[in-house]
Amino acid sequence: MAFVEELFGINVFNDSVMRQRLPKETYRALHKTIDDGLRLDPDVASVVANAMKDWALEKGATHYTHWFQPLNSVTAEKHDAFISPLPGGAVIQEFSGKELVRGEADASSLPNGGLRSTFEARGYTAWDPTSYAFIKDHVLCIPTAYCSYGGEALDKKTPLLRSMEALNRQAVRILHLFGRMDATRVTPTVGPEQEYFLVDRDLFDRRSDLIFSGRTLFGAKPPKGQELGDHFFGTIQTRVQAFMADLNEELWKLGVLAKTEHNETAPAQHEMAPIYAIASVACDHNQITMEMMKKVALRHNLVCLLAEKPFEGVNGSGKHNNWSMFTNTGYNLLEPGDSPHESAQFLCFLTSVIKAVDENQDLLRASVASAGNDHRLGGCEAPPAIISIFLGDELTEILEALEAGAAYSGREKTDMTVGVHALPKFPRDTTDRNRTSPFAFTGNKFEFRSLGSSASVSDANVVLNTIVAESLRQFADELEKADDFRGALHDLIIRNIREHKRIIFNGNNYSDEWITEAKRRGLLSLPSTVDALPCYTDEKNVRLFETHRVLSGSELRSRRDIGLDSYAKMINIEAETMLMMARRQILPAVVKYAGTLSAALTGVKSAGGTIMNGPALLTDLCEEIDRLKDSIDALSGILEEKPDTDTPIVSARYMHDLVLPAMAVLRSSADRLEQITDRSCWPFPTYDELLFSIQ
Ligand code: ADP
Ligand code: MG
Repeated sequence: MAFVEELFGINVFNDSVMRQRLPKETYRALHKTIDDGLRLDPDVASVVANAMKDWALEKGATHYTHWFQPLNSVTAEKHDAFISPLPGGAVIQEFSGKELVRGEADASSLPNGGLRSTFEARGYTAWDPTSYAFIKDHVLCIPTAYCSYGGEALDKKTPLLRSMEALNRQAVRILHLFGRMDATRVTPTVGPEQEYFLVDRDLFDRRSDLIFSGRTLFGAKPPKGQELGDHFFGTIQTRVQAFMADLNEELWKLGVLAKTEHNETAPAQHEMAPIYAIASVACDHNQITMEMMKKVALRHNLVCLLAEKPFEGVNGSGKHNNWSMFTNTGYNLLEPGDSPHESAQFLCFLTSVIKAVDENQDLLRASVASAGNDHRLGGCEAPPAIISIFLGDELTEILEALEAGAAYSGREKTDMTVGVHALPKFPRDTTDRNRTSPFAFTGNKFEFRSLGSSASVSDANVVLNTIVAESLRQFADELEKADDFRGALHDLIIRNIREHKRIIFNGNNYSDEWITEAKRRGLLSLPSTVDALPCYTDEKNVRLFETHRVLSGSELRSRRDIGLDSYAKMINIEAETMLMMARRQILPAVVKYAGTLSAALTGVKSAGGTIMNGPALLTDLCEEIDRLKDSIDALSGILEEKPDTDTPIVSARYMHDLVLPAMAVLRSSADRLEQITDRSCWPFPTYDELLFSIQ
């Protein structure tokens, strides 16, 4: 067998390992639990736990952990050794069914947004058998959901699983109306393309801003940025190639389908895309991917930056969330299909997404909101903060023709009636050319491009699954009542195209005209996190999430508050870091340089030379130093007056309205100084070194 095939999934307790190692009845019972979403029988759990432990011990594991995804977007683990004492001082290694299915996490320091008071701080973790256990650094990791004692979700996994269930319920209703009785489950699939930067570790270590905030808070533009377009898809540097090879191996061992790797637009920027998986597994795998990227980079004396905007002036990093829905019979519901029947079904699901996106622009925007991502959305490099859908000209024309009851004048002229005509063939690659759209149809899936590179993909997919479930619920309610299914379907599709076509935009999303046009169409523009996050608890949204049993009102409040709280904290960390660097590194360096410069000028003069502009050089420098000092004082004053409040929106607003602008002033002053200061005096590595040093 070839190398990769032998390596793949070697550290995963996957289906084939289970089939080999579990008694037939246990394997079947476990499968039934997984396939039908049932409760696991304790006896079955014990047998599975024992087999899992034996397998893990053979692979050198010493500990196990319930691996979960708390609300801070990273993963959490607490290791327990398998050991248990024997009389006489020896130990045996054990792992019970109870330990497999349920754990207690005294995790009072993890964010809960007011869902738990500290006197009942324990939460519990519950095994998610739809995601395979795996071994990482000698620890058997069991993917789990994390809830409070009252059953409220304290993690990113629980609502994702619930939203998948909601989508399943409604999509199956629709399929049954189409006579597809063989389809008993519908599952959303996700393929997240992950962007990242690599910088040399020695340079990284000398920059407090990178260390504390993951992004540069100072730095003048280098002479060359990304304007030549020579990095995108360019030959991969030897050192980066070695990193990628190593990363692929680690990911393959963990069963992650790492597939595509390439250089991205900005210098030092790269991307990895896996083959898609069901949404919950894709979410787990993306967390593993981010963790591995960081770990493997260090082995190559590199640091992997996952922050959304590590460098000003060049592109930031996002995560393109490719999303579709599959039946358990292997049919992609966003595949246009060949027959009239398939086309009608496709149009029904397509329209459900268009309606969902139009009616829930606020939620989609909120699902990608973070301090880091605000620097990206709306810049001329990433999707804007205004949500719209790109369908491509041909599909748009088809919908327009349907709505007008007119002939579609594409390559094959047809008078189109839903359910009577097949869609004309439109080549898939014409649908994937617009890279500026936040939400693009790319042939047989949608690509939501607004996600930040460091975020968990959970939030965005929870929203997507739930809002599409709601459209489908309304569709099913209407169609189930109809006497003439085909006629009712035709009317429903056309009515929804008419009502929601304002969300379709195939033009350039980066242009100023689009901002004006979007306003005219009445589309929402929520430029920042503080504008976006509060919408989670709007009445319409609470009703939506509660109807589908995805999140309760209090769970939504907790998520909103945690988001706002981390926004405020992140900006506070950045502002404090800037002050530290400005006061203790930049200011001393430039004052020293002013001394050196004036001494040099005096020296030239006393030797009889005349530099006419000498005094001007010094004056410029001194004036800029004064401005730097002023902006340090201004920022520090504003930070001192931070409101003392328990209301996250108040702190977040203050940070947005007052602290961010003061940070920008300080930065521009420091960046101007960088450009007029002797390079050898500058106290930390500059952009040209950070962006261009890896060969
Ligand atoms: P690109 O967008 O770069 O042209 P592709 O469109 O082929 O590349 O794929 C990008 C990502 O979309 C990959 O992660 C791929 O696995 C994923 N993808 C492809 N089909 C689907 C699908 N039906 N559902 C979810 N993700 C998908
Ligand atoms: Mg793509």
